[in-house]
Amino acid sequence: MTDATVSGTPAADSPHKPTNFLRGIIDRDLEQGTYASRRWAGTPGDAAHHAAGEPDPAKIRTRFPPEPNGYLHVGHAKSICLNFGLARDYGGVCHMRFDDTNPEKEEQEYVDAILDAVKWLGFGWDSSFNGQAQSHLYYASNYFDFMYRAAEALITAGLAYVDEQTPEEMRANRGDFTTPGTDSPFRSRSREENLARFREMRDGKLADGAAVLRAKIDMASPNINLRDPAIYRIRRATHHNTGDTWCIYPMYTFAHPIEDALEQITHSICTLEFEDQRPFYDWLLDKLATLGLIQQPVPRQYEFARLNLTYVITSKRKLKALVDDGVVSGWDDPRMPTIVGLRRRGYTPEAIQLFCERIGVSKSDSWIDYSTLDIALRDDLESKAHRGMAVLDPLKLVLTNWDEVMGAGHLEACSLPALPHPPEGTEAPVRHLKLGREVWIEREDFEEVPPKGYKRLFPGNKVRLKGGYVIECTGCTKDAEGQVTEVLATVVPDTKSGTPGADSVKVKAAITWVGAADGVEAEVRLYDRLFTDPHPDAGGKDFKASLNPDSFKVVKGYVEPSLAQAQPDQKFQFERFGYFVADRVDHAAGKPVFNKITGLKDGNWK
Ligand code: ATP
Ligand code: MG
Repeated sequence: MTDATVSGTPAADSPHKPTNFLRGIIDRDLEQGTYASRRWAGTPGDAAHHAAGEPDPAKIRTRFPPEPNGYLHVGHAKSICLNFGLARDYGGVCHMRFDDTNPEKEEQEYVDAILDAVKWLGFGWDSSFNGQAQSHLYYASNYFDFMYRAAEALITAGLAYVDEQTPEEMRANRGDFTTPGTDSPFRSRSREENLARFREMRDGKLADGAAVLRAKIDMASPNINLRDPAIYRIRRATHHNTGDTWCIYPMYTFAHPIEDALEQITHSICTLEFEDQRPFYDWLLDKLATLGLIQQPVPRQYEFARLNLTYVITSKRKLKALVDDGVVSGWDDPRMPTIVGLRRRGYTPEAIQLFCERIGVSKSDSWIDYSTLDIALRDDLESKAHRGMAVLDPLKLVLTNWDEVMGAGHLEACSLPALPHPPEGTEAPVRHLKLGREVWIEREDFEEVPPKGYKRLFPGNKVRLKGGYVIECTGCTKDAEGQVTEVLATVVPDTKSGTPGADSVKVKAAITWVGAADGVEAEVRLYDRLFTDPHPDAGGKDFKASLNPDSFKVVKGYVEPSLAQAQPDQKFQFERFGYFVADRVDHAAGKPVFNKITGLKDGNWK
């Protein structure tokens, strides 16, 4: 694998979608009318069902088929944007399908979370058909009856057999890359015997693992996946949808092509690890079409490279381990690459879509640099997020002549634009702040003995409080340990920003501040990457060995009133620090909690 950088990508609003090999295939299929003769009955079904339907109004059908066994992550976002995006761009439909043929590990909690995630990313599964709204939300477990029928049809056609070798014998007889497999002694059973035995499997007469149904293809095939793959197994497990109706379940490699065929999928897009399965996908659908069970033309499978993001793991199983072991606070911990985690961290659906568009689709594995996601976030929020000032490492600044020159207890109303470049034709939003005798400033903005080139506060130097007055530093007070407790300065009258006197005194720096009178104390959560290794689980590495001990830090700071009034989930640019979001779980009026999304520039971690 190589590290890939992304460059020369079109802007978010570019009318020219980046092209990729899948678009090339779809363009060709549409040009040649490959799928023009298909009919669609309005619901998934077999050949007869669809034959009675109408010409399919959808130009193409794609699908997003997660297993409901965990929360979706950023890798799934790539697949979602790809499948739903292609359907949208080509006048097609993308089916939201739960691949729930595995009775274990599947839960309603995950089903709900997955639907939420897809919707939040900006996609839906409704279309209109004959003027009626149709929902394309499907569950593979609803096809168990058909799958069973397909299995019996294969047996009857002499294309499947019940194998009762032990799992060890089966493994040994499969051969390997250099050795062809050996036929099972059960391979030559008669069709009648196979059918009877398969029905006994279904009826619970055999123990779990005692037999499997295998496709009868070729034990000497150079592709091991074609050496009579198992297509049904015995497993006494309660299924979340079908309960205890079945004690045999189809294998994924058998179920998936059938799901695609019943739903009239045209382009079945999956990740590269399924490339070796494609010959079986084609074999199976070809046989079922020939047997008249499914409509032709059958779906075709296309593989693309999965998303690998530096410093991130994208495996539900490994992410679950982080949750179960308490390494993170939950699936929605803002450091998690899950969709719920990214959402809580403050990433927007627009930024994730933009990211997916920019990384494109290819057939070779590579690592995408995490900064690509942050660049997309900044590009999305730059023109949208209101600006505000926050002090994250507060130090008190006292304007010692304030009462004398401004009036005792006076609070001066100041204002600043909330957006430097408001959308054309709209009025610039404004934020209001109050400047008084006491102000919070950033500890690093004062140096008693300034290093060379330092332009901020030090005795004798003048700076501007952004949007307020020019002040002149006169010194500081310290505690017994010599730690600075307060910075002392005087305000220079008649120098307020936006007044005629503003330019009368030249300064080299303007510093951010929050008024002690109207600033609100806030909890600010600073996140960094979860792993220190850019490829935490590559090559089977133990990802827990490279956990970043400094991935989470909480600071108490102060924010200006406009930030304190944030709605949960609202995003801001904290001037000089970067992008922050009001935490959607813990933020409340009067008790602000912000998460840092990312800095203004790459590697800008505080
Ligand atoms: P995991 O290994 O995390 O469990 P999975 O592939 O088993 O992932 P599924 O629920 O089967 O998870 O995935 C649904 C769809 O998302 C599949 O079509 C799969 O190809 C796609 N997908 C999963 N991970 C990625 C990834 N990292 N990049 C692109 N697509 C992905
Ligand atoms: Mg899977």
